[in-house]
Amino acid sequence: MKVGMLGGGQLSLMLAEAARPLDIEVVFIDPAADACAATAATQIQADYDDPAALDQLARQVDVVTYEFENVPSEAVRILSEDLDVFPAANALATAQDRLFEKNQLVALDIPVPEFRSIDSLHDLRQAVMQLGMPTVLKTRRFGYDGKGQAVIRSEQDIESAWQSIVEAPAILEAFMPFDREVSIIAVRDRQGNHQTYPLSENIHKNGILDQSYSRAEDPAFEQAEKYISKLMDELEYVGVLALELFQVGDKLYANEFAPRVHNSGHWTIEGTICSQFENHMRAVAGLLLGEVKLTGSSLMLNCIGEMPDVRNIKDLPGVAIHDYGKAAREGRKVGHITLTAESDMALGELVGKVQRELG
Ligand code: AMP
Repeated sequence: MKVGMLGGGQLSLMLAEAARPLDIEVVFIDPAADACAATAATQIQADYDDPAALDQLARQVDVVTYEFENVPSEAVRILSEDLDVFPAANALATAQDRLFEKNQLVALDIPVPEFRSIDSLHDLRQAVMQLGMPTVLKTRRFGYDGKGQAVIRSEQDIESAWQSIVEAPAILEAFMPFDREVSIIAVRDRQGNHQTYPLSENIHKNGILDQSYSRAEDPAFEQAEKYISKLMDELEYVGVLALELFQVGDKLYANEFAPRVHNSGHWTIEGTICSQFENHMRAVAGLLLGEVKLTGSSLMLNCIGEMPDVRNIKDLPGVAIHDYGKAAREGRKVGHITLTAESDMALGELVGKVQRELG
């Protein structure tokens, strides 16, 4: 079987690597000359909305998926004429727009931070009065890793926040005094069966994911699973879905969802029997889903900007280094390191050792 993919970054790379033992080949479109998925899959180097490239892809694959939510909806529409595209266009359109996304969550009774839709400076001033401060202004579209966002802490920040997002349609959100950030990742197959991975506890630095930690029994799991299951069923979702949440006390509030494999689930490669990458390919290809149980406790450390010197840790048992082969650049995700151990205590020891070596 051949699966078409929009995007050739590290998610596409790890999807293609997971697909290989399933005898699934991946062909992807990406305009970049140095797309990192090219080491594991076949590239069509073109823009995502190039009609000739979309036609070339459609003629050689059985089904299509994508690795990021900002794929042009027109490309998905064109491909959907002849092929199944998973996750389907409705899930993509909802996730691409923070206002649609929030409205969908509210419709399903999934708690979210209080928010307002913003189309002008006047709207923004009024909404700040209603929600109080601090608040977070976020563009409705094309925001990621904290980009397209501004925190408003005082009245003086209002105008500069509006200018910083280039006066784009936006939402204003109450700033959540969260105890922790978590994410839940689940997979749903074409028949509607689903499996949910153990919860990830996430730490961000400068709006970018820095660490994800997962242990067997997290008290917030049940609530998070209920929310993601409702969302997947409502969207008749096929593939892996990730839902990011803020925990305040014992209550969870949804921040956003991603219709794709997610950075906070990279630990599933070593930490579970069937990773998020394999399960996404299984769902999209119409295969049975794999087991999502933990093999122990896991911690994933993102490598941002450049790969650290891993010489002294790479041979340690329980350490897995993933170098995406990308050129170093400030703020860029160039790799990740997963640490796994059979218990929380053993993981703590391994984390200490690795942190001492990495400095
Ligand atoms: P996002 O792009 O919406 O995932 O936001 C990136 C990061 O900014 C989140 O992971 C949080 O650390 C922080 N953040 C976003 N929205 C809020 C909020 N309403 N309250 C507090 N922190 C937030």
